[in-house]
Amino acid sequence: MTTTRFAPSPTGYIHVGNLRTALMNYLIARKAGGEFILRIDDTDPERSKQEYVDGIQQDLEWLGLTWGRMERQSDRLERYEDAAQTLRDMGRFYECFESPTELDLKRKKQLNMGNPPVYDRSALALSEDEKTNLRAERGNGHWRFKLDQTRIEWDDGILGHRSIDAASVSDPVLIRGDGQFLYTLASVCDDIDYGITNVVRGSDHVTNTATQIQIIEALGGSVPGFAHHSLLTGPQGEALSKRLGTLALRDLREAGVEPMALLSLMARLGSSDPIELRGAMDAIADGFEITHFGAAPTKFDVADLYPLTAKLLHDLPLEDVAQDVADAGVPGDLAARFWDVTKANITTRKDFKGWWDLFANGAEPDIDAEDREFIAQAMTLLPDGPFDDDTWGKWTADVKAATGRKGRGLFMPLRKALTGQSHGPDMSSLMPLLQVIKARG
Ligand code: GLU
Repeated sequence: MTTTRFAPSPTGYIHVGNLRTALMNYLIARKAGGEFILRIDDTDPERSKQEYVDGIQQDLEWLGLTWGRMERQSDRLERYEDAAQTLRDMGRFYECFESPTELDLKRKKQLNMGNPPVYDRSALALSEDEKTNLRAERGNGHWRFKLDQTRIEWDDGILGHRSIDAASVSDPVLIRGDGQFLYTLASVCDDIDYGITNVVRGSDHVTNTATQIQIIEALGGSVPGFAHHSLLTGPQGEALSKRLGTLALRDLREAGVEPMALLSLMARLGSSDPIELRGAMDAIADGFEITHFGAAPTKFDVADLYPLTAKLLHDLPLEDVAQDVADAGVPGDLAARFWDVTKANITTRKDFKGWWDLFANGAEPDIDAEDREFIAQAMTLLPDGPFDDDTWGKWTADVKAATGRKGRGLFMPLRKALTGQSHGPDMSSLMPLLQVIKARG
């Protein structure tokens, strides 16, 4: 069975970059009728917060990215200890005592000599006595996995065939000096135990993949299919990493972005398939193909989400927006007309309130100096409310007869006087919504 996972660390709220990963894994499972697992990578007790675990779940639920089960790495420390012991027993795991400063010095020396800064494995030469002394002096060491210095190869779902020389990579640290298991080991144990068949993640994980393939093999697991998607950049190709904080999913939700608009964009952005607005997850999953994604950095412009949101809203029936229309203060008997009149003139549901305020409390009239007398005269001809569908037609006919104005010179000043805007919904349909006309003076 196809099984995928999304594995965020709960050290912050998730953003569009994380969504790309979550969505790709979700769609692979959904398309194959498999399972999508939410895995919380919380082996770091200091940085992991329950608030973010809750936040991640809310954000995924908002988007409809539902998971078959949720697992937490902090529940599985015994399993990781067992795996560590297995690696020790195989002679693939060794304790090291270099401090960060010493490691840094080694790296600098290697770089100065023009060599790649790969850990020199000097801890492998330590005798048991030396280790006992170092432990007494410095506390417990950190543990590194001893890579097989061969080439590590895999067929990447996006990057194509990859071949990495293990000798060019440092033996990865899997347990820190303070005993904390690192993601590299925990993730491998989980992927094996949960039967993960496909892993999509960012291309910043390519080196991890190389080392994790060897760890999976050492622990007797089968290697999942890997695909590494490109990282997102801003619209100009600028690095997005610093701005991702402002692109948190909850902020987009708060700004009124519609889930299907966001999903429609993110499920195709960076692929050879066109971005088309879809109204349902199945339609998004149908055309999704991981191999259609390219390796080049993917440009993301948050502004693209708004036309998609507007387009999506425009086609919704009243029942899908009724709650938000009511929340904006629109009385039930006016809801259908309100939606009809405003839907072509809104970008997000957040705009309902502005329109209703305008109808309920009256717009500040926008009257050009040369139209002042004309508007004053027109107002004397405007009947008392409530207005109906015929009000605008009758009134403008009367104003035309009284003033001789016609066409744009007639209609535009009246629209601006009543709504404060030079564009907007059809005035005949809008009139019955107007509760207050400030231009009456
Ligand atoms: N917690 C890791 C991350 O957020 C997961 C990477 C993976 O998918 O294996 O980068």
